[in-house]
Amino acid sequence: MPATQTLTCLPGIGPALANKLAKLGLTQVQDLLFHLPIRYEDQTRIVEMKQVMAPSHGLIDGKITSCGIQGGRRSSLIVNLDDGTGSLSLRFFNFNANQRRQFDTHQRMRCFGEIRTGPRGLEMVHPQYYLYDRISPPLEQALTPVYPATAGISQTRMRQLVNTAFVMLKAEAGGIEDLLEPLMDYRYKLPDLLTSLQCLHQPNSGEDTESLAHHHHPARQRLIIEELLAHQLSLLQLKRQDCSPAAVCAPKTDKANQLLKQLPFSLTRAQARVWQELSDDLSKACPMVRMVQGDVGSGKTIVAALATCQVVDASCQVAILAPTEILAEQHLNNFQQWLAPLQIRLVWLAGKLKIKPKREALAAIANGQAQVVVGTHALFQDSVNYYNLGLIIIDEQHRFGVAQRHALLQKSKTGTVPHQLVMTATPIPRSLAMIAYADLDHSVINELPPGRKPVNTAVINNQKRDHIIERIATVCATGRQVYWVCPLIETSEFLQCEAAEATAVSLQQQLVHLRIGLMHGRLNSAAKATVMADFKNGHINLLVATTIIEVGVDVANANLMVIENAERLGLAQLHQLRGRVGRGTGQSHCILLYQHPLSRSGRERLSTLRDSSDGFEIAEKDLQLRGPGEVLGTRQTGAIILRIADLVRDAQWLPEIKILAADCQKQPNLADKIIHRWLGNKNQYGKV
Ligand code: ADP
Ligand code: MG
Repeated sequence: MPATQTLTCLPGIGPALANKLAKLGLTQVQDLLFHLPIRYEDQTRIVEMKQVMAPSHGLIDGKITSCGIQGGRRSSLIVNLDDGTGSLSLRFFNFNANQRRQFDTHQRMRCFGEIRTGPRGLEMVHPQYYLYDRISPPLEQALTPVYPATAGISQTRMRQLVNTAFVMLKAEAGGIEDLLEPLMDYRYKLPDLLTSLQCLHQPNSGEDTESLAHHHHPARQRLIIEELLAHQLSLLQLKRQDCSPAAVCAPKTDKANQLLKQLPFSLTRAQARVWQELSDDLSKACPMVRMVQGDVGSGKTIVAALATCQVVDASCQVAILAPTEILAEQHLNNFQQWLAPLQIRLVWLAGKLKIKPKREALAAIANGQAQVVVGTHALFQDSVNYYNLGLIIIDEQHRFGVAQRHALLQKSKTGTVPHQLVMTATPIPRSLAMIAYADLDHSVINELPPGRKPVNTAVINNQKRDHIIERIATVCATGRQVYWVCPLIETSEFLQCEAAEATAVSLQQQLVHLRIGLMHGRLNSAAKATVMADFKNGHINLLVATTIIEVGVDVANANLMVIENAERLGLAQLHQLRGRVGRGTGQSHCILLYQHPLSRSGRERLSTLRDSSDGFEIAEKDLQLRGPGEVLGTRQTGAIILRIADLVRDAQWLPEIKILAADCQKQPNLADKIIHRWLGNKNQYGKV
């Protein structure tokens, strides 16, 4: 297939140039054609000076009438041109004597550049130009494409390369295959591949430069669809690859049922539905890869515990992985409390464990003594050998990338692949989930346990801080507890902790009767555990913390949260933080303190949060405000690098992409070709 050959097969591309092109992500011949121009110049016609408008780009032609240096802060060389219909000046800031001498009066000049209104009328600054006497240079036949910054390759060279690629691909049969043809049936009324590419790289002189550069142009839409499809297919393929056999953990139900009986509450309908989905998946020989999304407080943990029971019943081990030690410890407590009465043996494994307990934990994991292992990333270091790992539970999925998740699957020694359950409290907008998490099945717990009231949220100017402090005193006097969150103000974690410390000191001066605790990332794990325990059992009235408490922390008696500098945080994070209150019955409150004046987007974020408690709605808004990269987090962004498409802007195609992907699976090799075209040899999502 000529299109997929390496670039060095094109005449004129040696190793040095190939290296430069590789830096732009261009390695195959066809890559040149998918490297689209960002804008176009019209050098096919000359604009008469009397018709020139500013601002615009255009080609002009005229006779030099004068040339001189203009003083001022930065001296500039001014060349005045006249074309018989009007006049216009050229302005050069960096010029030398030679250049000045070139501009002989009565010479003719052809110039292309941006026209703007200068101090003395219309002018062109630093145009591309060509000087001549009598024979006027020919006009371009086609619009001139301008490519994105090209690491030491000139625009002219880039155009030549693209042209060479076209010539080669058109000369050979099957040169560049239209991979969507068998799928689309042109139901979208979009041009075919070759027509699209030619239209974008070598547009006819009549085309409108503005509309060509716009993503709505049908030729661009044609390519956007194909790129989105490639990513979708790549993730789906990853999902299929994992379909090596898993341990069949059919429900024996005794332990799960015992757990259900022992709970002080019954499951919500949503929890029961999701538990059923998990139970079904776990009984199959194909590994479960399922994400459970549920708003903060929707009760994901108990569902995970039920799944754990079913897997332990089938004599397999369960690993429970949390992103922070605080959260892992909390899971340990919850699971211990639920599972120990059922004679299930748990062990704890975290990075900071001392040598002896660590050795013991590792031994218990390796010989199967430990049925459930709770911990942080330490669970998946090489030194950990599982006896028979049947299920991995990852809490707060958004902190782990796709690649990491797939790396975990390599851990089983028994030849089976563990089932995988990921839980996230950060609802992912549907559009994003469909493509970014196409390798997962989804379950949603879309219901809160009964009796929960939405947190009452207020947006308040920091100048009213004293009011708030009085209110804290009142709340604590009734026996309830309060969080005070100091978000990231400085980028350094150290400064962030210092800020929290300083806040704790100053609050203590105003609230002398309260017991104030401090929680931040620089405390060692023992100190963190003590603070958390003290807050949980009520010894601490007010907990001052950095955003470290964002995930998972569960103290039902705390019903007021104050978030300082709330305008600096993203919506998803604020929603997460707020989820720490409103966990018990009774009304809870969240106060978003902001520093005046608020930016427009700051105001929009805070009022979205005040008016909504629906995680999905907030996530959609977050996506609009911040874009997919930010919403998915850095690790995920690394995984989705789109050349032409944009997940948010082009979201309207996503349902269509799903249908195309399903059709595509029916045609042998087609998916592979599409993936290879856009993602190269590597399946980027599988990379660790
Ligand atoms: P999240 O989904 O945020 O992880 P948790 O699993 O921590 O939520 O649950 C929040 C709280 O709600 C816990 O204290 C849990 O015991 C309680 N809970 C869970 N399910 C129910 C239910 N069906 N009825 C009442 N309380 C529940
Ligand atoms: Mg949780």
